[in-house]
Amino acid sequence: MGNISIETTIANTKRRPPRFELIAGALCLDFINTLDDRFSKKPKELLKHYVDLARFAEDAGILDTAQVDRLTERSYGSAEAAQRALGAAIELREAMSAVFYAVAQGKPVPQARLTTLNQFVQGAAQHSRLVPVKAAVNAQTNGGFEWRFDVVPNNFEAPLWPIARSAADLLASRQLGYVRACASETCLWLFLDESKNHRRRWCDMTKCGNRAKFQRFYDRKKKASA
Ligand SMILES: [Zn+2]
Repeated sequence: MGNISIETTIANTKRRPPRFELIAGALCLDFINTLDDRFSKKPKELLKHYVDLARFAEDAGILDTAQVDRLTERSYGSAEAAQRALGAAIELREAMSAVFYAVAQGKPVPQARLTTLNQFVQGAAQHSRLVPVKAAVNAQTNGGFEWRFDVVPNNFEAPLWPIARSAADLLASRQLGYVRACASETCLWLFLDESKNHRRRWCDMTKCGNRAKFQRFYDRKKKASA
């Protein structure tokens, strides 16, 4: 992916143990996966409250712990505004989901969802700018540029800017062809297949991969004994 460096903007504060499984290899895809069991009869919403969104931002390195604490505390006093931001986050997520699943499954991308995503990308652009990366070796080396997002401590929608940007970058990149849905039908989480031969099938080998392997083993055994 492009140079989305959010790490540089955050302070080195101690983080809480992560609450989200960030396995996708791209921020936007990890965010789509926050609706777990998406295609089952009972999808599991991992973003129930604004606090969940803030914690995702912390786990993903978008905000530091102090910023998350500030936003969380403020969300109790401004519940309506926080709820609106959560609604916007879900709207963004579902637009991204429609677009990226269409891409992963080789289907036409729904135009209305792309329009929604574009609105968020434009909003994010107003809160980001390009800054030169400091060259590590010597000052003559051009270290390239990266996106830096505004630190607006009181803006509930701050977590959405890097997420929308991540979606835009991935959609416009060559890596788009490596967006996959997990081969487990009960999972279908999205991830970026960065393996050498680009034949990764599972979101997480230890979870879905092993489960599927076990199932195959079990089926074979049942067949053999039948
Ligand atoms: Zn999976």
